Amino acid sequence: MNMDGKAVAAEVRESLKARAARFEQTRGRKIGLAVVLVEGDAASEVYVRNKSRACAEVGISSRTVRLPADCSQEEAERTVRALAQDGTVDGVLVQLPLPSHLDGKRILACIPTEKDVDGFSAENFGKLAKNEACLPACTPRGVMELLARYGVDVRGKRAVIVGRSNIVGRPMALLLLNADATVTVCHSKTNDLREECLRADILVAAIGRPAFITADMVKEGAVVIDVGINRTEHGLVGDVDYPKVCEKASLITPVPGGVGPMTVAMLLLNTVEAAERAL
Ligand code: NDP
Repeated sequence: MNMDGKAVAAEVRESLKARAARFEQTRGRKIGLAVVLVEGDAASEVYVRNKSRACAEVGISSRTVRLPADCSQEEAERTVRALAQDGTVDGVLVQLPLPSHLDGKRILACIPTEKDVDGFSAENFGKLAKNEACLPACTPRGVMELLARYGVDVRGKRAVIVGRSNIVGRPMALLLLNADATVTVCHSKTNDLREECLRADILVAAIGRPAFITADMVKEGAVVIDVGINRTEHGLVGDVDYPKVCEKASLITPVPGGVGPMTVAMLLLNTVEAAERAL
């Protein structure tokens, strides 16, 4: 059965409307999200537009601060620092990727932990690793939400994640571990990837290679989460060979319409939580 990320994301947005309205009533202003966009990346323009549309839908005020493609490191850092101090801004995110002349690490470090709604800061990451309250990265948080909404009890289950990036694989592993799964993280140096994947009750693919996870790597009845988004000549495809794997999986996320919509919904959730904590 498909896990319908589009529908679950719509439910999440619906539930956030009341929280955003309550915040506005008590504080006399809307919850605010600021997105710093360094111009020049077409895909980023689309992502930022989607984020601000989603904010408007739930009653979050979003502001896109645009910087020219050739802006200096100093200008980018100054912009983020100003937003960090702005009392009407509850969440700050810097849209990635940044042009190569900019030091992204230093720019991201200007976002204070409590406004780090992307969950990329070392402090949020550290708290996640220690199983403390934090703002977790949006994509893996979205996966956890999907699992919960579909009644997948992860406790004690064998979860295998393919991919160990800082924005997906690693935080995904920590969230599953914090939820009492038994977690294995695989990557490009893993010895027998097929063998590892075959043991998974829950298999998360976050690799960035079209249809990389084939049916012979999936246990009958496994829950398969496909984080991958690959643009091919046949359109958008995930990291999982969906047509074959869906015959074996008990639950599976399609691409598009699975994990993708959940990522934006979790950005809104993180922003609402950041604002509520600051009350
Ligand atoms: P990265 O390129 O940062 O990481 C890819 C990971 O896959 C690495 O850990 C790499 O291993 C591993 N890998 C690559 N090749 C192999 C292989 N042959 N065997 C085993 N492991 C391999 O990608 P991201 O984590 O940023 O993104 C992964 C995918 O998810 C992409 O398609 C991306 O577009 C998508 N994505 C989707 C989002 C959504 O909202 N749905 C959000 C973010 C990403 P190693 O570390 O050894 O190099």
